[in-house]
Amino acid sequence: MAGRKCLALIAHDQKKDDLAAFAKANEAVLSKWKIVATGTTGGRVLDACPGLDITRLKSGPLGGDQQIGAMIAIGDVDFLIFFVDPLTAMPHDVDVKALMRLAIVYNIPMALNRATAEELIAFRRN
Ligand code: PGA
Repeated sequence: MAGRKCLALIAHDQKKDDLAAFAKANEAVLSKWKIVATGTTGGRVLDACPGLDITRLKSGPLGGDQQIGAMIAIGDVDFLIFFVDPLTAMPHDVDVKALMRLAIVYNIPMALNRATAEELIAFRRN
């Protein structure tokens, strides 16, 4: 369906269960949107919510975060929900920073934890 908003979803490994639970709890709202996700995250969310329209990109450490950043730069992503693990070192930390930087540059609403994501969803529900 043309004109639907596009949500980008990412969760680091320790946060994937939380993101899948978040998606399940908000499935009705998420079903209104196109969703792009990094590879593993998208798979986990699809396991929880098989009916969602999710395009899976590469896994984050293999370029998925950069793919989403590029989509933000060309205006294809309307908002970003990224459940970040602040307690684990990431090999692709520079990619994560670059993605967040582009979300700021292009003024994309960006939720980096579940509390903010819940607020974003509540705001977008209406
Ligand atoms: P993944 O990538 O969904 O493929 O695990 C997320 C990330 O670690 O940035």
